[in-house]
Amino acid sequence: MRPALDTYTHLASGKVREIYEIDSDTLLLVASDRISAYDHILTPAIPDKGRILTAMSFFWFDVLGVANHLAGGPTDERIPAEAVGRAMVVRRLPMVQVECVARGYLTGSGLIDYRATGAVCGVRLPEGLVEASRLPEPIFTPATKAAQGDHDENISFERVVEQEGTDLAERLRTATLDIYGRGASLAADRGIILADTKFEFGLGDDGELVLADEVLTPDSSRYWEAATYRPGEVQPSFDKQIVRNWLTGPDSGWDRVADAPPPALPEYVVSRTRARYIEAYEWISQKSFADWPDHE
Ligand code: ATP
Ligand code: MG
Repeated sequence: MRPALDTYTHLASGKVREIYEIDSDTLLLVASDRISAYDHILTPAIPDKGRILTAMSFFWFDVLGVANHLAGGPTDERIPAEAVGRAMVVRRLPMVQVECVARGYLTGSGLIDYRATGAVCGVRLPEGLVEASRLPEPIFTPATKAAQGDHDENISFERVVEQEGTDLAERLRTATLDIYGRGASLAADRGIILADTKFEFGLGDDGELVLADEVLTPDSSRYWEAATYRPGEVQPSFDKQIVRNWLTGPDSGWDRVADAPPPALPEYVVSRTRARYIEAYEWISQKSFADWPDHE
C-alpha cells in the first residue's frame, strides 16, 4: 500500500514543484504540470509535463555518472499512488546557496551582461559576439538563489568565493562545467544544442558535492535544435516556442507590456506543447515516454 500524499508534511511550493518531507533525511519532490512563460504561470497546465520532466531528470541522473541526491527509483514505495511518475524521493541535503549555471552559448541575461560590460559574471569574452553565439569554451556564470518571486542575479566567481570559500567555489565551478560538458556532448550526438543550464548542489556527509534538484530539464536549461541554429537571432525554444508565439501573437490579445495575467492557452497550443515535451524526452533519452510510470 502506498502512503497517502497528506501523510507527508508539505514544506514548500515552487513555481512548478511541491516539496514534501518523508522523514528528517528524505524529501519528496513532486513536479506539477504547471508551465510558466514570461514570468507568469499559465493556464491551463500541460498534461503530463510533470511526468515528462521527471523522466528527463531520472534519465540524466542515470547517464551523467556523478553523485546525485536520488534515494529511490520512479516507483519507490514511498511515492503516493497519485504522484507516481512525477515524483523523486531524494536525500535531504544542505543546499549550496548558489545557482550553478553553465553557458556554452550567449543569450538571455548573459547576453545582456556582455553587451553592458564585455563580460558575464566577470568572465571576459571576446569582442563581436552576438545573440546565440557559441562561446570559445563553456563558462561558469553563478547566480544568487533569489527568494520566491525575485529574479536570480548573476554574480562573479569572486562573490561565490566570498560566500562559500575558495575550495568549495572552485569545486562548484569544476563540477558545473564538467556536468554541463557531459550533458552537452550527449545532446549534441542527438542533434540538440544544450545552450545553457542551471544545477543545484547539496553537500554530502563528507562535504562532497551531490547533484540535486532537477537536472537538465527544459525548465532548467535551454535546448535548441542544432539543425535550425542560426547565431545572430533569438533561437526558438525547443519546448516553449509554441506557447510564446501564441502569447505574443495577434490571437491572444495579451498586453505583455502592461504585464497583465496572460489569457488561457487554447487547446491546440496545449496539445502541441505537450507533444513537444514528449518529443524532447524521447529524442534525448531514446526511450519511449509510453513506458514511463503513471499514477496508480
Ligand atoms: P522556482 O520555482 O523559482 O524554481 P523554487 O526554487 O523555490 O522556485 P522549486 O525549484 O520547485 O522551487 O523547489 C525545489 C527546492 O528544493 C529548491 O529550493 C531546491 O534548492 C530544493 N532542493 C532540491 N533538491 C534538494 C535536496 N536534495 N535537499 C534539499 N533541498 C533540495
Ligand atoms: Mg528552483
